[in-house]
Amino acid sequence: MAGNARLTIDNVQQQIVGAQAQVPLLDGTQQQVINFDNAASTPALRPVHEKVNEFMTWYSSVHRGAGFKSQIATMAYEVAHDLVGCFVGADLRTNTVIFGKNTTEAINKLARRLPLAPDDVVLCSLMEHHSNDLPWRRQARLYHVAVRDDGSLDEEDYDRLLRQHAGRVKLVAISGASNVTGHINPIHRLAVKAHNAGAMILVDAAQLAPHRAIAMRADDDPGHIDFLALSGHKMYAPYGTGALIGPTAVFEQGDPDLVGGGTVDIVTEDDVRWASPPDRDEAGSPNVVGAVALAQAVLCLEEIGMDALARHEADLTAHALRRLRAIDGVELYGLVDPDRAGERLGVIPFTVRGVDHYKVAAVLSCEGGIAVRNGCFCAHPYILRLLKVPGDKALRYQQEIVAGTRSNLPGLVRVSFGCYNTVEEIDRLAELLARLAAGDLCGEYEQDPHSGAYWPRGFQPDYERYFTIKPGLMVQSHVKGRHRCGV
Ligand code: PMP
Repeated sequence: MAGNARLTIDNVQQQIVGAQAQVPLLDGTQQQVINFDNAASTPALRPVHEKVNEFMTWYSSVHRGAGFKSQIATMAYEVAHDLVGCFVGADLRTNTVIFGKNTTEAINKLARRLPLAPDDVVLCSLMEHHSNDLPWRRQARLYHVAVRDDGSLDEEDYDRLLRQHAGRVKLVAISGASNVTGHINPIHRLAVKAHNAGAMILVDAAQLAPHRAIAMRADDDPGHIDFLALSGHKMYAPYGTGALIGPTAVFEQGDPDLVGGGTVDIVTEDDVRWASPPDRDEAGSPNVVGAVALAQAVLCLEEIGMDALARHEADLTAHALRRLRAIDGVELYGLVDPDRAGERLGVIPFTVRGVDHYKVAAVLSCEGGIAVRNGCFCAHPYILRLLKVPGDKALRYQQEIVAGTRSNLPGLVRVSFGCYNTVEEIDRLAELLARLAAGDLCGEYEQDPHSGAYWPRGFQPDYERYFTIKPGLMVQSHVKGRHRCGV
C-alpha cells in the first residue's frame, strides 16, 4: 500500500483499482461508478495489483528453470499455496492446496478425482450454483436438499436424506454461502452430520471466502471441512487463480484428471509415475501471476481483518435492507430482517413490481452508473423456488428459451456488497429505485427478445473513449454481447 500505511476497513475504498472510474449516463453526464456486483467478481485491491506489477520483473517459468528468476518464481508459487491454505485454516501437514482457474474448475477436478461409483450418493442443495451441482450429476446419484421459503437450507430435509441414503452417501457438496440470497450455511454442523454418516464434505466457498474467516479445522475435528473451493476473482485478485484444498491422501490416489507436463515424476515409453500433490493435479505451466495475486489478496484481507470486514458488510446490508424495503413496489427475498444482517452476506435479491428484472438492471446502469446483476445467477432451480414459479409455468419458460426468446424469463435483481462499498452508495441506489418504482425514468427502454436484455433507445456510449484493445472493434462486440445470454 502507498506509504506502507496499514490497510483498514476505513481506507480500503481508496485502495480499490477503478473505484473512482467515471461512467457515462443516459442524460449525457458522467458519474463515479458504483459497483454492487461483487458476488460476480470483485475489482482488484491496489496492493494486489502492485504486487503483481512488482513480481513481473521476476516472472519466469515455475519448477522447470535453473535461472535465478525461475527460482524466485518457483518460491513465490509455493509460498502462495501455503498462504492460501493458512487463510482457510487448513492443516498443511495433511492437506494440499491445488491451484487452478476458479471454483468451477476446482469442483470439476474434485468430481473427477474422487473415486465415485455411479451408484454412490452425493448430496448438494437446491441453493447451489450450477458449478456445485452439474459436476456431481456426471459422477454419482445426486440429491438436492430442499430450501425453505426464505431461501435457507432445510436442515430437516438434509437429515432425512442422510438417513434415507445411509451407507451410500460419499460426499456432501454445499455452498458456504449463497450467491443469490447471501444465506450462510452452518458448514461445521453439516460436516459433523456428514461425517457421522460416513461421508466427506466439500464447501463451495466462492462466496464465503471473501467475506468471512474460514477454518477448515484439524482433520480429527468432527466439524472438519474435508474439501474447499474458492476463486481469486471474487477475492480482489482477478488474475485467474482459484484453489481446491483437501486431504493430500486423496490426491495421492488415482490418476490426475488432466495429464501432461508437470504431473509426473517418471515417464517411460509405456509407463508413467505421477508426481506428488499438488503437482500431480496442476497440469501444464501454472498461472504463477494469479497465484501471487491470490496470496497477496489473502494477506490484504487478513490485514483489514475478517471480523472488521464482516461488521462493515453487516452494517451495509442492514442499511440496504431498511432502505429498500421502505420503497413501495420493491420486494426483497431471503432473510430480510435488518437486525439479522450479520447472519448473512451482503447479497440482496429483489424485484420491482411491474418492471422486468432486465429493465431494472439497465436503468440502474444507464441512469445511475450502478452495476448490478439480474437473471437467475447460475442457480436456476433456486430462483424458481424463491419466486414460487409453478412447474407448468417453468416448463413454458424453458420451451420459450429453446424457441429462442427470453422476453418473459423469471429472475431477480441482485446487489452484492464488497468491503469497499459505502452507505452513501446504497442511498443513491435507493433513490433511483424509488424513482424507478414510481415510473419516473429518463429513457425509453427496448427489449431484445433473444437475450431478454433491455437498453435505452438511442443510448450509444463511446466505449473506446474509456478503453479499447484495438480501435474499431469494441462497439461491434458490445452489440454482440447484448445478444449473448449469460443469465
Ligand atoms: N459457486 C458460487 C456460490 C458462486 O457464486 C460462483 C460464481 N458466481 C461459483 C461457484 C463459480 O465460481 P467461478 O465462476 O469463479 O468458477
